[in-house]
Amino acid sequence: MYYRMSCPRCRRRIEYTDIQVGHQAHCKNCNYEVILRGSVFGFAMYFVWAAALVFVAYGSLRIYRMVHQTRFTSNAVQTNVMDRQA
Ligand SMILES: [Zn+2]
Repeated sequence: MYYRMSCPRCRRRIEYTDIQVGHQAHCKNCNYEVILRGSVFGFAMYFVWAAALVFVAYGSLRIYRMVHQTRFTSNAVQTNVMDRQA
C-alpha cells in the first residue's frame, strides 16, 4: 500500500510504502527530516470515496428504476385504455 504526505516544511508531496511507515526519511526537495506516518486520514479518505461511489451508484440506480417504472406504468395504463377503447 502506498501512502502520501506533504512535507511539513515545503509542502511537497512525499510518497512511501507501508514498509517505510514509522521510519525517518528526508524530503527530496528541501532535505527536511520527516517521520513517515501511516496516515489514518488517507485511509479514511479511501473509505469516504468508496462510500460516495456506492451512494452515487445506488442513487443513479434508484433514479433509473424510478424513470423506468414510471414509463412502464404509463405504458401499461395507456395499453389498458387502448384495450378498453378497442
Ligand atoms: Zn520538504
